[in-house]
Amino acid sequence: MAFPDHADFVIIGAGIHGLSTAWRLAERLAAAGEQVEGRVVVLDKTGIAAGASGVACARKSSTPASAAMAAAVSSSATSGATIQV
Ligand SMILES: Cc1cc2nc3c(=O)[nH]c(=O)nc-3n(C[C@H](O)[C@H](O)[C@H](O)COP(=O)(O)OP(=O)(O)OC[C@H]3O[C@@H](n4cnc5c(N)ncnc54)[C@H](O)[C@@H]3O)c2cc1C
Repeated sequence: MAFPDHADFVIIGAGIHGLSTAWRLAERLAAAGEQVEGRVVVLDKTGIAAGASGVACARKSSTPASAAMAAAVSSSATSGATIQV
């Protein structure tokens, strides 16, 4: 994929948090009827899931610290591994 000259949204880090952010952002743009393709770029100094996300054990705690954390964990867990923006 060619490196874009412009992006409206640049997310640094292609771990679970960066990719989840890109995924949810794309969903919201699409839901608002806005163009998605080419607007969101995820940059990583190494590669996709090169950090902790690539070695995590995929354990989901049944006792999250807060409702917000529970929602974030649930959202990330259902995002899947394939990101198309
Ligand atoms: C061994 C291990 C097991 C784990 N098991 C579990 C588990 O069972 N359940 C659980 O919920 N959590 C687990 N975790 C924790 C979980 O993996 C992390 O909390 C989560 O993956 C962090 O995601 P992240 O996107 O914030 O960071 P990361 O996955 O680390 O992603 C950060 C990305 O940013 C990139 N980056 C960093 N600096 C720059 C820069 N300057 N420019 C560009 N890119 C950059 C890195 O290359 C990397 O790809 C585990 C962690 C480890 C290490």
